[in-house]
Amino acid sequence: MIVVWSIALRLGVAALAGLLIGWPLGSVLAGLAIAFGVYLCWQLAALLRVEWWVRHRSFADAPDLPGAWGEVVTQIVRLHRRKRFHKQRFVQLFRQIQRSTGALPDGVVILDEQREIMWFNRMAGQLLSLRRPDDLGLRIDNLVRQPQFVQYLDGGQYINPVALHAGSRAGVDRYLSLQLVPYGEGQLLLLVRDISRQMRLEIMRKDFVANASHELRSPLTVICGYLETLGGDPLLDPDLAGPLAEMRRQAERMTTIIADLLELSRLEAQDAGAAGEAVDVAALLAMLRKDVLARQQHPAEVRVKVESPQWLFGSESEIHSAFSNLVDNAAKYTPVQGSLEMRWWTDGAGGHFAVTDTGIGIQPDHIPRLTERFYRVDAGRARGTGGSGLGLAIVKHVLQQHDGELSIESTPGKGSTFTCHFPSSRLRDGGNQAREAG
Ligand code: ADP
Repeated sequence: MIVVWSIALRLGVAALAGLLIGWPLGSVLAGLAIAFGVYLCWQLAALLRVEWWVRHRSFADAPDLPGAWGEVVTQIVRLHRRKRFHKQRFVQLFRQIQRSTGALPDGVVILDEQREIMWFNRMAGQLLSLRRPDDLGLRIDNLVRQPQFVQYLDGGQYINPVALHAGSRAGVDRYLSLQLVPYGEGQLLLLVRDISRQMRLEIMRKDFVANASHELRSPLTVICGYLETLGGDPLLDPDLAGPLAEMRRQAERMTTIIADLLELSRLEAQDAGAAGEAVDVAALLAMLRKDVLARQQHPAEVRVKVESPQWLFGSESEIHSAFSNLVDNAAKYTPVQGSLEMRWWTDGAGGHFAVTDTGIGIQPDHIPRLTERFYRVDAGRARGTGGSGLGLAIVKHVLQQHDGELSIESTPGKGSTFTCHFPSSRLRDGGNQAREAG
């Protein structure tokens, strides 16, 4: 408002001066033109001074101008001060973030939409052998070239990290865990952790389980052999027959557990994506049906539905082991008057094998944990059925080896469906493969 008044005052003064000049000359208009011309020149001069100062503000002092121009200069100075204050705060904050991420025990790499490195902290530099500034602006998959990481990066599924073998240092294997976290518009945060210690412990654990199971197998075979001989002895005290039969049952259970543990250790030691042959799923299911019908107790109805002629590519023994574990469970947990169905079909997503039973079903809260080792919904009942709690862990591992997944649907009291999903890359044309295999 003050600015408006000041402009109005100046215009008034110019008009008055114009009148005073024009009156003696006999032309008021000429006087006004001279006065406003001078006023305009003064305004232009002020404008030029302000423009020059704005361009050279870093070293020039603010011009001391009266009226509206003075007000403009004051506003510019104020804005500049505010901007400088915010800039300083941002710089401070940025340095703090840089210092804290630099102190992080984990590596952090910021990638842009093109997967190019924008920034990385000291730890990421050490773990991934990145150099500053040479590697800034380079694509991360040109520097971390392991196929698992490239697949992970391209896959777009970043929920779980990927573990990489990062060579060895001083004879000790190094392992890294890499996790991508999307943020902003297409940018990615790459978190890198050294998991060599955990991996070494995990390898030791697996070795221990494999060795212990292996060592237990021979003495157990001897015990089972003697128990069998003793059980068949006609001179055996009849009072001992019951306990001896129970001992045999338990020894057989231990044999099953050890066999399952060894199978799991073997699967874990194997590289994913194991090669194999084309497996005739229809023939396999027919065989599994026979096995179910050969059980002492089995569901009255056992159906097989093969809706696709395609075969499945993989390890025949492993696929057999996984499918038979599912079929075995369905037979075990379904009463004799129930039914069991095996179904094989293919679609755009790949091949699917489902085992549906009308058995006891499973409460929903148990379902996510079923594939854990030794997890049993009802330990007492499972022991009664000879279950080891390792069957579904084996199924999960076999499926992982074959790029597959297990899905479980179940309604307590009504029944369950366990479905193995395989990608299309695992399907083969039956006839051709039969010829190839032959
Ligand atoms: P187990 O050898 O004890 O059967 P699994 O790993 O094969 O071990 O199965 C884990 C648990 O899952 C079992 O103890 C059982 O409680 C449950 N389960 C598996 N399959 C079925 C099924 N078809 N119906 C009901 N429960 C099942």
